[in-house]
Amino acid sequence: MIIKAKKSLGQNFLIDQNIINIIVESTEIKDKEILEIGPGTGNLTNFILKKKPKKVFCIEKDNQLIDILKNKFKDRIILINDDILKVSENQISENKLTVFGNLPYNISTQILLKWILNLNSNLWFENLVLMFQKEVADRIISNYNTSNYGRLSVISNWKLNIKKIIDVSPNSFKPKPKIESSVLIFTPKKEYPNLNSSKSLEKVTRIFFNQKRKKIRKSFNQLFKDSNFTAKKLGIDLNLRPQNLNFNDYFNIAKELENS
Ligand code: SAH
Repeated sequence: MIIKAKKSLGQNFLIDQNIINIIVESTEIKDKEILEIGPGTGNLTNFILKKKPKKVFCIEKDNQLIDILKNKFKDRIILINDDILKVSENQISENKLTVFGNLPYNISTQILLKWILNLNSNLWFENLVLMFQKEVADRIISNYNTSNYGRLSVISNWKLNIKKIIDVSPNSFKPKPKIESSVLIFTPKKEYPNLNSSKSLEKVTRIFFNQKRKKIRKSFNQLFKDSNFTAKKLGIDLNLRPQNLNFNDYFNIAKELENS
């Protein structure tokens, strides 16, 4: 059967077996509970199953693909015909999940932010292996004082350790996307600085990075009554620019905002 890829659902199916192999080798699968989001025609699913997981849950939005997956894998996978953005991920299983996802690029970022910002001590995943547009992946893993460093870097690195697994060329997909991709793996940190609410860090990074080229004095003035006093207390130089502050600086500012 010929499957016509739907552009609206960002369907670019991974066909490069070397890449698929590297993805499934990036983390332990044997005896684990796996969640695959956007399984498509099941290329990655197939490789996951060969590694003898305990269970595989698949969330796929496309009804037509659901039928194909049902036929192909029968009861070897648990299919959920839904939109990942609407699913309560902590209700999928009682056990921690290992997540694989080759989703449309806009959704990958959205879902990552949602998961990080809602993450509490009740962790529902062991790790996340996700495909991104390369440019976005580079932003996520970049460090301060580099040009890619931004909001996404600060927020992602708050609770998660992140590593790039591999860059993926457009030739590895069918149909070919226009852009390069990268696969990242995210593992929860054992310890991270605690905030009362992730909203404060969201707010601070939004205000600072919306004025990326300006000195941070401007953002400080927006957030605090006495910028000089607060900056001094936090050991931060107000003549710097947003890209010069490291993760700790941003947490300290968020914390200060919560206490002010
Ligand atoms: N993982 C497969 C398919 C990648 S294409 C492979 O590597 O070959 C992206 C997949 O995500 C498609 O199957 C598409 O139907 C599905 N998808 C798109 N938006 C989705 C959403 N909001 N929720 C769940 N699945 C979605």
